[in-house]
Amino acid sequence: MARLDGEALLRRLPKVTGRLEPNAPLAEFTWFRTGGPAEVLFTPASEADLASFLADMPGDVPVYVIGVGSNLLVRDGGVPGVVIRLGRGFSDIAVEPESRIRCGAAVLDVRVARFALEHGIDGLTFLRGIPGTIGGALRMNGGAYGGETKDVLVAARAVDRSGTMQVLSNAAMKYSYRHCGAPEDLIFTEALLQGRPGSREEIAAAMDKITESRESTQPVKSRTGGSTFKNPPGQKSWQLIDKAGMRGFAVGAARVSEMHCNFLINEGGATAAQIEELGETVRRRVKETSGVDLDWEIKRIGVPA
Ligand SMILES: Cc1cc2nc3c(=O)[nH]c(=O)nc-3n(C[C@H](O)[C@H](O)[C@H](O)COP(=O)(O)OP(=O)(O)OC[C@H]3O[C@@H](n4cnc5c(N)ncnc54)[C@H](O)[C@@H]3O)c2cc1C
Repeated sequence: MARLDGEALLRRLPKVTGRLEPNAPLAEFTWFRTGGPAEVLFTPASEADLASFLADMPGDVPVYVIGVGSNLLVRDGGVPGVVIRLGRGFSDIAVEPESRIRCGAAVLDVRVARFALEHGIDGLTFLRGIPGTIGGALRMNGGAYGGETKDVLVAARAVDRSGTMQVLSNAAMKYSYRHCGAPEDLIFTEALLQGRPGSREEIAAAMDKITESRESTQPVKSRTGGSTFKNPPGQKSWQLIDKAGMRGFAVGAARVSEMHCNFLINEGGATAAQIEELGETVRRRVKETSGVDLDWEIKRIGVPA
């Protein structure tokens, strides 16, 4: 396999207002804290910067966008092409009429939930339970505690691989459970979310309940990627994993969480290969014991070492 050569790729890329960094470590940008570098990491300054970069860049260069890596396993050999990480230029948040909130794709879901509380807007409390960005929630149809992105999205703005701006309605996102059917090349830049007027006390109480529940049922302070596998229809992945005897099972420093066995944990120094092997072992054992094929919810990107 050809080694990544960020410097060579950089020479082929258009000038930007934001930042282009060759051979940029990505581990620090993921919850698992492991994996290889981006061949080139692009932090666009604005939507216009992002759009002109995409319009002018060579068509053969792969592009992948990341949020805060809370649903991501970056393989040890790194990610060929350009990895895009949205920063400050995508972090605006504002109230709009009719209990709506407009927010940039880099805004954390938790921030949106708190902002809604400050403005007495209900219906967005579930975002308190998801430790990702709005961009990640749009792509994953992130959901928790009875709510999901699909329930609250009015429209999303995005830039496609050719640098063209698009506005997508909720229907155009083709949402299903933890899945968005909108074209894979879209980089979401902004969302308009629908809430409803609510009482601050009740919203605050609902958010406190979510915080308590998460902390007692999920290893939220560990190096993890959240739920590893989607729940198969009518079943819970964690129950199937438990039944397969995989709770606490380890490959090197990668371990199935004792607290919530659909979570994999990097206990310190685990490679992405070990985490992926652990996940694949879990899938195999679940298939043997229950006949069910678990489907990865975590996105795995890049190449092996
Ligand atoms: C402790 C823990 C608990 C979690 N609990 C939940 C939960 O209750 N419910 C839930 O739904 N998820 C949960 N997750 C998973 C994760 O937080 C969500 O999937 C989240 O939406 C991912 O957002 P992110 O910014 O981290 O995206 P990343 O992990 O960086 O990326 C995930 C996917 O989103 C895409 N993406 C990110 N930004 C953009 C963008 N701007 N445009 C287009 N695509 C983009 C990426 O390409 C990738 O395919 C949990 C994770 C952890 C670590």
